[in-house]
Amino acid sequence: MALDEFDLIARYFRTARLERAADASATVLGIGDDAAVLQPAPGQQLVISTDTLVEGVHFPQHCPAAELGYRALAVAVSDLAAMAASPLGFTLALTLPQATPGWLQAFSSGLADAARDASINLIGGDTTRGPLTIGVTVLGQVPAGQALTRAGARPGDLLCVGGNLGDGAAGLEVALGNPLPAGLPMAAQEYLHGRFWRPLPQLALGQMLRGVASAGLDVSDGLLADAGHIASASGVRLLINGPQLPMSDALRSWSERQRLDWMLRGGDDYVLLFTLPRAARGRLAQWRAAGFAVSVIGEVQGGSGVQLDLGLGPQAVDGPAGYQHFRSTDD
Ligand code: ADP
Ligand code: MG
Repeated sequence: MALDEFDLIARYFRTARLERAADASATVLGIGDDAAVLQPAPGQQLVISTDTLVEGVHFPQHCPAAELGYRALAVAVSDLAAMAASPLGFTLALTLPQATPGWLQAFSSGLADAARDASINLIGGDTTRGPLTIGVTVLGQVPAGQALTRAGARPGDLLCVGGNLGDGAAGLEVALGNPLPAGLPMAAQEYLHGRFWRPLPQLALGQMLRGVASAGLDVSDGLLADAGHIASASGVRLLINGPQLPMSDALRSWSERQRLDWMLRGGDDYVLLFTLPRAARGRLAQWRAAGFAVSVIGEVQGGSGVQLDLGLGPQAVDGPAGYQHFRSTDD
């Protein structure tokens, strides 16, 4: 590389915006040594998740670098939200074909925006040459025993979602530059573009679900596919009530059929899907009053799999329910 690896790290990643995006008191030692040292709070368990994005597999060539930087971190942080964890730090494994200053500047700036929005500090990483690949490992903490897992849903629980569905899939259309409905307002287009490139991990909601929700995850593969993950991990059936699915106004320019398909099978929404014991249903009003757009979209039943009621009675959902955009068979 034209730029020496140490210069590159110092210039673009060892920056205040990334190293001190949040309270750094848990970082005993950050970037610069052989490894980082973190101090979780007493009584907390570590929560760790890794996501890798490969150019040409998970995103097309020539994506806007700032958006890529934002999205790479935000989707990784969403896994911490889904576990009800709070962020401690993240590492970045960056493989680059060449060191292009403009690209690095934009990428690290988008990454820093996401770090600020999620209150998470960059604590280390690795930089190598090769096909563009972005690996992010996020570390978080959760009070011992309170991580929100996919197992634990019980028949009778309510099935809830933390925000609108379908925006991620519609946003992908905008991001890819695909033909859009003639009547789509510019503001809706911008909103959807943002929903795809700058997902908002529901960290605060996840932390409120500690000790209350019985199971949960973040919707990344699509509602039906992700509901299937809870159903199988918990050994229950999930019934989804189609008319209750929450949708943003930005989707109204598309046909009803298209909207429903995106809400059910489109991925990339990064809202939390969780089950709530009926005894805790009073929390819903509290959360809504606190500004969280939580909706009840169905219930947990005895049995297995996912059923969908579009107004004509429950129908079993089968086949590959997830929506594998950008993805080839090796993922
Ligand atoms: P080593 O050879 O000891 O593994 P490196 O040269 O890979 O060290 O990295 C030096 C320091 O820079 C380490 O603290 C490492 O965590 C950090 N680092 C390397 N690449 C990145 C990156 N892309 N983002 C943030 N920190 C990085
Ligand atoms: Mg190294």
